[in-house]
Amino acid sequence: MERIQLDRLTKQFGEEIAVEDVTLEIEDGEFLVLVGPSGCGKSTTLRMIAGLETPTAGNIYIDGDHMNYRVPQNRDIAMVFQSYALYPHMTVRENVRFGLEEEAGYTADEMDERVVEVAEDLGIEAYLERKPADLSGGQQQRVALGRAIIREPSVFLMDEPLANLDAKLRTQMRTELQRLQADLDVTTVYVTHNQVEAMTMGDRIAVLNDGQLQQVGDPMTLYHEPANQFVAGFIGEPSMNFVSGHRSNGKIVGDHIEYPLDDRLASAVDETDGGEVVVGIRPEAIDIRRADDGSTSGPHEFRMTVRVIETHGDRNVITLAPASESADHEVLQVVTDGTFIVDAGETVVVTADPDAVHIFDGMTGEALC
Ligand code: ATP
Repeated sequence: MERIQLDRLTKQFGEEIAVEDVTLEIEDGEFLVLVGPSGCGKSTTLRMIAGLETPTAGNIYIDGDHMNYRVPQNRDIAMVFQSYALYPHMTVRENVRFGLEEEAGYTADEMDERVVEVAEDLGIEAYLERKPADLSGGQQQRVALGRAIIREPSVFLMDEPLANLDAKLRTQMRTELQRLQADLDVTTVYVTHNQVEAMTMGDRIAVLNDGQLQQVGDPMTLYHEPANQFVAGFIGEPSMNFVSGHRSNGKIVGDHIEYPLDDRLASAVDETDGGEVVVGIRPEAIDIRRADDGSTSGPHEFRMTVRVIETHGDRNVITLAPASESADHEVLQVVTDGTFIVDAGETVVVTADPDAVHIFDGMTGEALC
């Protein structure tokens, strides 16, 4: 059953269309991540669901009820922001309890009991008498979560809640948030610009660009079957490699690369108007070896020159340029395991299995295979 329905949702600020015609259904209990670059309309979408912005057009339903004109307090939602929004003069206990005080039907004792339960769930019971200023960022964020979950809302809305935390704490809080969401089984819409956060946390991910919904799907579908070049480039780190080319004699010919077409790739190129395509290959789908290891070249192999090698310990990211001396632009990034070491300037041979190759329409960016 869907808990939230967005039906052709649009928001315009003056001339600017922040959100355009977004249709999306979010299932009961689902963790849906709204992801996209800065300014793509994520927060505006979330704020419309919360009731903090009124849609210019389209409709919002929660549990089948029309929400467009309902005030935030009557939507049975709780929102958590990047900025925590805690009251500085109140203790942690008072801040968490505040989440319940607007709700009818609780006695003072019941509220106190709930505060302790929630504080235990979040591991903040030791700080109940402290003020927010005396807590770390991670602890403050837990308090903000406590204030949200104490009300047992039917929907959680979270806007970059981990953005102010350092990298290690962010990773830890990601896991905690997922556990909490699964335990509470609350439908959650989570906004982030961080694709790693989206991939690791979301049951499904909705990718926005320029106010428009690009694709909705589970993380693996977005990674393996991106609907267009934008999604392909946005999901995955380092980003998918793209090379523009056109069809010529059973091959795709780009500036420095010729790639033979098998049946699958050929029928994808057939779908374009004039054979102009963009070839996409993930850095982790490319094999690389030294050019001096004695083996012969196959049809899908290219000689390239190493420009930069970034070591990460467990893996290396190698940036390659065409082998020809004249070419100075970098065209491919390759991820290898940490044991493959080469020097800048060395020649290598790279191979990409045709099954790992994506083809995008050169005009529209739409994925063809
Ligand atoms: P970020 O990740 O940077 O927060 P976002 O994807 O959440 O970005 P929004 O905050 O939804 O993007 O903004 C979408 C567009 O709408 C932006 O171009 C922004 O400048 C514009 N916008 C948002 N709020 C307003 C407002 N109150 N008045 C005018 N324009 C606005």
